[in-house]
Formats: sequence, C-alpha cells, structure tokens
Amino acid sequence: MSPQRLFLLVLLLYIAWRLLKNLIRDQITQKAKDLRQKESEQAEGATVQDTLVEDPVCHTLIPQHQAIRLRHNGKNYYFCSDSCCDQFTGTPGGKE
Ligand SMILES: [Zn+2]
Repeated sequence: MSPQRLFLLVLLLYIAWRLLKNLIRDQITQKAKDLRQKESEQAEGATVQDTLVEDPVCHTLIPQHQAIRLRHNGKNYYFCSDSCCDQFTGTPGGKE
C-alpha cells in the first residue's frame, strides 16, 4: 500500500468519525430540547389549564393556553382563531 493511499484512508476515517460525532451530538441536543419543551408545556398546562377566556369577537370560550393572545390598549384579549383576531384589530373601535 502506498503512503498516499494510507493517508487517504486515514483522512476518510477521520471525516467519518467527525460526521458520526456531530450526528450523535445533534441527536442528544435535540432530545434534550424536546424534553425541555415538553416540560415547559406541562408546567404551562398545569397552571392555566382551567382558565377559560372569552373571544370578544365570536364569544367562544377557549382555554387560555390555546387562545391567541393580543395586547391592545394595555389589556390582554384572547381569540379562538387568527381570523377572529384579525376581525377584532380590523374593526375601528373594536374594544368595548
Ligand atoms: Zn372566535
């Protein structure tokens, strides 16, 4: 085997090793991220689970953590959907 081929082989092995290491690291960080997200979702769900808010446009009651929040004139408004939110902001004097 010529020294050149040996060098190439080592280089290939090195690249493969680097790729593998990155792959493993990415998977681990992704898992940690997923876990953290799940935990924060659970914590959020536990604290606001029972709070129902009323959509000022269609008057539907929605759990607060599922609603679309809009801050308007220093007050929080909650909507069941983007279209209700748009309707609310698109209406002049939409607040009560
Ligand atoms: Zn609505």
